[in-house]
Amino acid sequence: MVRIGIPRALLYYQYYPMWKTFFECLGAEVIVSDTTSKTVLTNGIRCVVAETCLPTKIFCGHVQDIADKVDFVFVPSIRSLEPNVYNCSKFLGLPDLVRNTVPGCPTVIDMEIDVNKGPKRVRGEIHSVGLHLTRDTAAIDRAWQQAQAADRDYHSILQRGLTPDEAIVHWEGGEAPSGAPRADADLRVAVVGHPYNIYDGYINHNLLQRIERMGVQVLTAEQTPGAALDAGTARLVGKPYWTYEDELVGAAGHYLYGGADGVICVVSFGCGPDSLMVDVVRRAAKQMGQVPLSVITLDEHTGEAGLLTRLEAFVDMLRRRRNRWTASRP
Ligand code: SF4
Repeated sequence: MVRIGIPRALLYYQYYPMWKTFFECLGAEVIVSDTTSKTVLTNGIRCVVAETCLPTKIFCGHVQDIADKVDFVFVPSIRSLEPNVYNCSKFLGLPDLVRNTVPGCPTVIDMEIDVNKGPKRVRGEIHSVGLHLTRDTAAIDRAWQQAQAADRDYHSILQRGLTPDEAIVHWEGGEAPSGAPRADADLRVAVVGHPYNIYDGYINHNLLQRIERMGVQVLTAEQTPGAALDAGTARLVGKPYWTYEDELVGAAGHYLYGGADGVICVVSFGCGPDSLMVDVVRRAAKQMGQVPLSVITLDEHTGEAGLLTRLEAFVDMLRRRRNRWTASRP
């Protein structure tokens, strides 16, 4: 059986069930890299220049992690999912970056998704991936339909408030939490940013669990309705320019205007799009002046103690603010 590797990094958090379904429907075995660790990070750092953003370094480390366990590694290049809305250059060049930098890199199965080139071209790219496993294009079309159904199921599970890890367990038929709001939480904090920053517990020092342990209900873009994210993006920037802008600008544009006691923006050091997006969010928070904002920038040197101190101070400030407001009510 052909073994296809999927690195547990970057778009894994959005699309793993879809990709897994597609490859398994075509008879392949899917192997995912292990969770991020010091070894994964160190290997990733060795692959690329220091200025590269942390998530790309992590991705290279994950490719190396599965390099000797698979026949192929799947690295799509997602350019554009909406007309005239584009992804960052790292996503565009990811297959070439991986091929040329990761030692012992297996054969890369890539594809370019760019809706601006029309649906025929997108279908052709999907066929080009499937042709690595079968010559039967009708079977590839059927696998793609099943993959899209899996994607819809997975995202409906995420909307219940589960993390991607929990949602994947649930999607695979395992036991997972319900995702229902916590009865014991006295604050609601929106943690906004790309899933690979928010849900990789190694690089963010288990940020979500730490906030929850402080008695806070965490809200994320994944559990926020798409229409609310679109409205949040429209409110802050009008029309989006970047793919996945809704994960940061859309979610912040929604929660800064209600539904949360505070907003924490999580971004990567060295990320061009995030530096522009976070500036927009900062301005909006300043203009509104109602919902406090904290921006956490992650890189490989981010210390656990410093991060925890910032989180505690932010949550403490939110509680004092809320108590003051409650006390001042007639
Ligand atoms: S959006 Fe930013 S963090 Fe994500 S891959 Fe591109 S440069 Fe890196």
